[in-house]
Amino acid sequence: MDLSDDDLAQGVEALARFCALGKTLFPEPYGETWGPGPEGYGDRSMRDHLGTLQLSPQVRDWVEAMCCLVALGPLDQSATTEFFRTYALSGWSVEQALAALTATKLVKGTRELIGSIAEQARLADIRLNTPVLRVTQTDGEARLELANGDTISAPVGLIALPINVLNSAEFDPPLSETKRTASTERHAGAGMKCFVRVKGDIGNVSVMAPEAHALNWAVTYRHGAEGTWLIAFASNPDKLPMAGFDDVAGLQEALQPLLPDVEVEQIVGWDWVNDPLALGTWCIYRPGQLAQVLPDLRTTEGRLFFAGADSAIAWRSFIDGAIQSGYRAARDIDEYLGAGKGQAPATAGPTVPHRRTAAIRKPAAQPPATSFLEESWQTPPNTGAPPWPQGHGNRSSSTTGKPAKSTGCAGREKPLQRRGLWRIGPDNGAHFPYNVHGSDTFQIIEGEAELETPDGEKIKLTPGGLYSFPDGLTAIWRTKSPFVKFFVVA
Ligand SMILES: Cc1cc2nc3c(=O)[nH]c(=O)nc-3n(C[C@H](O)[C@H](O)[C@H](O)COP(=O)(O)OP(=O)(O)OC[C@H]3O[C@@H](n4cnc5c(N)ncnc54)[C@H](O)[C@@H]3O)c2cc1C
Repeated sequence: MDLSDDDLAQGVEALARFCALGKTLFPEPYGETWGPGPEGYGDRSMRDHLGTLQLSPQVRDWVEAMCCLVALGPLDQSATTEFFRTYALSGWSVEQALAALTATKLVKGTRELIGSIAEQARLADIRLNTPVLRVTQTDGEARLELANGDTISAPVGLIALPINVLNSAEFDPPLSETKRTASTERHAGAGMKCFVRVKGDIGNVSVMAPEAHALNWAVTYRHGAEGTWLIAFASNPDKLPMAGFDDVAGLQEALQPLLPDVEVEQIVGWDWVNDPLALGTWCIYRPGQLAQVLPDLRTTEGRLFFAGADSAIAWRSFIDGAIQSGYRAARDIDEYLGAGKGQAPATAGPTVPHRRTAAIRKPAAQPPATSFLEESWQTPPNTGAPPWPQGHGNRSSSTTGKPAKSTGCAGREKPLQRRGLWRIGPDNGAHFPYNVHGSDTFQIIEGEAELETPDGEKIKLTPGGLYSFPDGLTAIWRTKSPFVKFFVVA
């Protein structure tokens, strides 16, 4: 049925109620943190959240259809927080959210955007149709093995794969368990979008339908004497009576309840869900994935950095999210390479803990669940004797900031490189490779972790402990409880 202005106003008001929790959950939607209760609401599906609203049947259908468009996946598997964040990103305005979802277009299309980026990346060696089969981290480099047999090595790797295909490449050492599990369970975006040419000029139409229908939105893309191009969306392609994108009769049948009189002539689409390089449509987290998966998806593992729209904070299901995550990763890599010229940010070596001090002042606040580096780039204070035993690893002396004589690292002289606080949680830091380049000396402010060296030695890292690990140590780091250390990498 046609919606009157009054119906639409009711729909917008209902959607505002649906999204209202976005105000408390995402008071700063571009930030990495969220408000109280994310687990509860993140664990709630759009379907469950719809069930909490008192709505007239007609308005309910409209709000449900909006959910189908945002998720493009089954509503009982799509986290309602995904809609809340879009609403928050749009200034907590339903009208702005609708505009962001449907009205903004690239003037010359996405191909032009990609072409422009590629043209400006003059130093890039772009290889299309060349899947990466294996990613190996060794001492000093990340190495990619490509399907065509080539290998590429670099001081760092940037993994920008969608989460659904992370497991399609083999990683050695393996990615964190959280990343691997997320890739196995996938996000909920598993819908279908296609362009449909129908006979004649049917003008501008926009027809929406709730989840029970095979198609949830059909909207005019272009119309004229040669016919009308529609865009059709299905949040659950299992309901589509279509065998493929050449099945004009199947799509005609699916379109029938929305636009009874149209005659389908042509379909253009792509099966993203079964494309092995995508395995899904745009990223919509499942209930719980926001809190359980997102921090880890953004966490560096050794020399591997991670980017892509699926791990973006803002505009996660959008090109904008991919671009934002690219900026962030570029900054992180620049910092990493600039600081240590390819040496790992959190590094260590097989070592023995050697001095412990008990009187450590703990920070007032608990560390957040995400791991991050807070680095102080100042010259260390001149405190006289260094807080670690002399002659260990490549350490010589000097908290003065003057270059320290190095006994390791190929005999190079190196200045004190970096120091600062480093935090990680037991979820996102459950298991990752820890490789020391130079030396890593740190004191544990709080938390416990364990290192396991390749020969099976287990080193317990306990609060207050002062540890120094020499160049060349490789180990697996396991974080046991929220962990904060003050480190000096030299
Ligand atoms: C149907 C559809 C419509 C959309 N419409 C919009 C829209 O209107 N506006 C908007 O902002 N966003 C839209 N999106 C979302 C947007 O496309 C994504 O958010 C964005 O493309 C994500 O960028 P990305 O670089 O993170 O990942 P991707 O664009 O998915 O890029 C990942 C790349 O990795 C490659 N790859 C996969 N496996 C391997 C491997 N083993 N080795 C090497 N390469 C590999 C893939 O081929 C792909 O090129 C849409 C998505 C879909 C599916």
